[in-house]
Amino acid sequence: MAADQTLADRLSARIEDKRGDLIELTQDLVRIPTLNPPGDNYLEICDFLARRLAASGFETQLIRGEGTPGDSDRYPRWNVVARREGVQAGQCVHFNSHIDVVEVGKGWTRDPFGAELIGGRIYGRGACDMKGGLAASIIAAEAFIQACPEYAGSIEISGTADEETGGYGGVAFLAEEGHYAHVDHVIIPEPLQKDRICLGHRGVWWAEIETHGEIAHGSMPFLGDCAVRHMGAVLREFEDKLYPHLATKRTEMPVVPEGARQSTMNINSLHGGLSEPDSDFTGFPSACVPDSARMIIDRRYLIEEPQAEVEAEVKDLLDGLAETRPNFRYDLRELWSVSPTMTDKDAPVVTSVAKAIETVTGGAPDYVVSPGTYDQKHIDRIGRLKNCIAYGPGLLELAHKPDEYIDVDDMIASAKVMALCLVDLLCPA
Ligand SMILES: [Zn+2]
Repeated sequence: MAADQTLADRLSARIEDKRGDLIELTQDLVRIPTLNPPGDNYLEICDFLARRLAASGFETQLIRGEGTPGDSDRYPRWNVVARREGVQAGQCVHFNSHIDVVEVGKGWTRDPFGAELIGGRIYGRGACDMKGGLAASIIAAEAFIQACPEYAGSIEISGTADEETGGYGGVAFLAEEGHYAHVDHVIIPEPLQKDRICLGHRGVWWAEIETHGEIAHGSMPFLGDCAVRHMGAVLREFEDKLYPHLATKRTEMPVVPEGARQSTMNINSLHGGLSEPDSDFTGFPSACVPDSARMIIDRRYLIEEPQAEVEAEVKDLLDGLAETRPNFRYDLRELWSVSPTMTDKDAPVVTSVAKAIETVTGGAPDYVVSPGTYDQKHIDRIGRLKNCIAYGPGLLELAHKPDEYIDVDDMIASAKVMALCLVDLLCPA
């Protein structure tokens, strides 16, 4: 049902009343440094969340992503899943937030784990990406439960590990264990802004290209075969043919920023010849012709592009060189890939959040697609659930930057949107 005005007003007032609680909760989360890598303090933050949500009537479960990449007894990949049943059968709305944050990096003028509140903003690593979104979803759920205790269905809130390193010990693990099988709607409160709905992301294809040569003395390079020069020929093909071609491939996906509304490819790394010496080695390199060069490419592709086509574009250029360039030999290895995904604009979770944004902000939402992937990929591919979006407070541009912050008013507005969405999906007329 549509939230009637009085209920919307009541929820809005209740969330405003929780401003102090929201600030404190966000600060508490930021002050637990869950750096990943290596994956610090996951158990501590999951315990904290479990205690908080249990006090609001949730049943909580701590689940370790045992045996997943990075999981060890020293750095266990803990996740928390909390569930609160309504009074009758209905749909399940799941809020998923990652609990990990990236390294601090240089350039901070604030304490990265101090969570200082200055001028209506909370500063700290992870404040924006995405502990502010996690706190907003908890406040939204708690306000909703108080305002509509007779709701149908269930609310779930999960805090999951490792999104910043692929999500394998977090959402991917939970999806494989069947934790999304009964879920109807997923909202991921990543920092996409309080008035934007993120429908999905572009695809990813990472591959390593190796060119081969023959080692010889560097003073007589004609006796060997230089793998780095072969790689130079690959780069020339990319510059002359592949990059101009990629620039012509535009997408109907509403990707932001605008520059990512086409196919892109980053050259992630390039290595050739002798391996880099240890930093305590102060001598000179030996004179050798390199017999191997390796390049890692990071290709981001569009929903209109089949992955086979993406792969063939690169392989065809390499095969062309093998035909025309003497002694050119190569290997091409896929490292990993993710399919593009985009939820329909008329999917129930999208229309529900869109209505709520209109009620709270007075304007229609923007629909966007993320240039990079996030945990929606696992919910889509492993969990087989298309009805999933990213929606949450904060500016994506601040993520992973020094002096990252979350604006408290933005969190309040997003919490209102999430609470109204719960009314829409879980309160039978
Ligand atoms: Zn994030």
